[in-house]
Amino acid sequence: MVESSPQIPTGVPTAARVYDVMLGGKDNYAVDRAVAEASLAIMPELRDIALHNRAMLHRVVRYLAAEEGITQFLDLGSGLPTVRNTHEVAQEINPQAHVVYVDIDPIVLAHGRAILADNANTTVVTADIRQPGALLGRPEVRALIDFERPVCVMLVGILHHLADEEEPGRIVQTLRDAVPSGSFFFITNFTRLGDAPESVALEKQLLEQLGTGRVRTPAELAAFFDGLEILPPGLVPLPLWRPDEPVLDASTIDVRFMTGGVGRKS
Ligand code: SAM
Repeated sequence: MVESSPQIPTGVPTAARVYDVMLGGKDNYAVDRAVAEASLAIMPELRDIALHNRAMLHRVVRYLAAEEGITQFLDLGSGLPTVRNTHEVAQEINPQAHVVYVDIDPIVLAHGRAILADNANTTVVTADIRQPGALLGRPEVRALIDFERPVCVMLVGILHHLADEEEPGRIVQTLRDAVPSGSFFFITNFTRLGDAPESVALEKQLLEQLGTGRVRTPAELAAFFDGLEILPPGLVPLPLWRPDEPVLDASTIDVRFMTGGVGRKS
């Protein structure tokens, strides 16, 4: 359990802490657990979905570090530290890989500082991606990310916390313009399942209780990759992106509710 802190409001739920509940973490409060329980009542598969999201993150970071030689990762909306974080996967392959975690929730910085105390190649920054220009100019970001060299920009499970009015597509475009060719974008998002009323009910519950949770169509997800070359196998349900083990049944909600992929800037 986390300590109370004036910087960490405990009376309202936050996305980072609700996600921590889903992953079985301990860094959350009663308000967060109440939202998670209401979500799980609608879609019990959400715990597995969170695990699929983490597993894809591990596969993508491993692939980009090992096969594409990426040495810089800008992990936006990184969430609370959990089992196997981006820097652990990347630095296992290349100990010199640089990783910058960015999250709007100050609890991420509070916990990240402790685990990163002796890792000079990794840092945590509290910032809002809705101001991408300010974020890109932060000295802590510039200290570890060289924007003259390819970067992997990670927007994993974060864009569904932005409403359409907040123009997530414009944010992605600003980020795309800031990185050189040879950079990658790794994006996942809740996906609307036309045949499953749960996806509509979950969006409604999250918007009411958490204030964010935009379930998007495959076309809306694809628009985030405009101008990028999408790597095989494309924008797919998370477990189907270069799986380590064959997926025996891809028809279930846990497989299909989140979609993602990787795009390269040419
Ligand atoms: N990326 C991690 C993963 O996929 O395992 C964590 C995803 S978690 C569901 C979404 C994270 O995005 C939360 O930690 C939340 O605080 C963060 N977030 C939401 N809106 C944000 C914003 N405008 N700027 C920065 N971070 C934000």
